[in-house]
Amino acid sequence: MVLEGTTSVLGPRTLMAFDGRCLVGQIHYRLTRRFLNAVHCYCSICRRAHGTGFSTHVVCRPDQLKIVTGTLIDYESSASAFRSFCPCCGSHILIQGQSGDGNLAIPAGTLDGLPDLTILAHIFVAEKVDWCQINDGLPQHQGWSPGYGATA
Ligand SMILES: [Zn+2]
Ligand SMILES: [Zn+2]
Repeated sequence: MVLEGTTSVLGPRTLMAFDGRCLVGQIHYRLTRRFLNAVHCYCSICRRAHGTGFSTHVVCRPDQLKIVTGTLIDYESSASAFRSFCPCCGSHILIQGQSGDGNLAIPAGTLDGLPDLTILAHIFVAEKVDWCQINDGLPQHQGWSPGYGATA
């Protein structure tokens, strides 16, 4: 959904709304951004929380996320980091506090449709399981991408 045309030093950009929802649709959220950047995270917490070899997260600022319908339930998955999920179906919708910079992470698989996602890097590769292989040329980081994370 196109919201408005804007102009930046890089030229005209279009602000877009990217909608997402939980499995049963009780939680509906909207990201308002010009593009979607994401990372694949191989940390052990993401692995267990998602039940998968890695999780793909869109990173955004709090003002770019609006919960349109529903109320999330949080739990503290590591010190001062909270994961939020739908109380009805359990879909993992949001991670906050993990990077210490106020940014949020949205599990990309909850986005509607086939949004144009730009994968920037693989992170926490040090915790990757052997049965999960990386077969592309994107940057791989042992922990956070440089400039991101709790110690940035
Ligand atoms: Zn992770
Ligand atoms: Zn749900």
